[in-house]
Amino acid sequence: MNLFVQARFIAAAGRSDDFPPLGPPEIALAGRSNVGKSSAINALVSRRRLARTSKTPGRTQTINFYDLGERARLVDLPGYGYARVPRQLRDSWRDLVGGYLSARRTLVGLIVLVDARHPNTPADAQLFAWLAPLVRAERLRLAVLLTKSDKLSRAAGAAALEAGRRSLRASALAGETLLFSSVDGRGVAQVREFMEGWLTVPSTAAPSAESPTAPSHYAKEAAAPGHRRRNKRTPG
Ligand code: GDP
Repeated sequence: MNLFVQARFIAAAGRSDDFPPLGPPEIALAGRSNVGKSSAINALVSRRRLARTSKTPGRTQTINFYDLGERARLVDLPGYGYARVPRQLRDSWRDLVGGYLSARRTLVGLIVLVDARHPNTPADAQLFAWLAPLVRAERLRLAVLLTKSDKLSRAAGAAALEAGRRSLRASALAGETLLFSSVDGRGVAQVREFMEGWLTVPSTAAPSAESPTAPSHYAKEAAAPGHRRRNKRTPG
């Protein structure tokens, strides 16, 4: 059955203690506040209001978990890098999201959303630098969506795509970059395909859907020194 028509909210967690117990493989979405993340989630699951879209960015500091049937979960990470967010909130963002990304053993893929009109903001570059150890260790599959691409002409879209790919290469990260729009649906089918692929061909270190408690080598990797660096380079 189609994964994306079965989305159901399961939990909002403001602290790692509140994360739901490990279950099926998780795919997380991250992006600057107001980048269009809630709209993208709603487009991916063909729902109008599964994830709330908000016009007051930077306020929600919870990680929201959704079940996609029994085979997968979608995880909405709080937005980052919004100038008006006070330092205390940024620190709590780093602890919450850093804790999730470095230790969540069932996390198999990450989707980073970047505004197609501004593909190289310092906050996004910082996020890529911060993610690099995780992705290089092949723990995570990565896709970068250039959002709101409906606002760009065809030529500007092509230029944004090239710039987005360059910035990913500059961070020495392997991943897909594509134009996306929740308004005209561009990229939606492609992202669903990536997600399906990540679930059916787990990365070397990722646990399979059949073993949600994860093999022990995976837990060791999550605690490896490379991953502890997370506190030194934080976006936001
Ligand atoms: P979030 O803060 O990242 O969850 O962003 P939202 O999904 O709440 O979107 C922020 C604003 O951008 C809202 O006003 C949306 O209507 C608008 N928006 C989101 N996605 C798109 C898109 O693909 N195209 C256009 N033109 N606007 C979008």
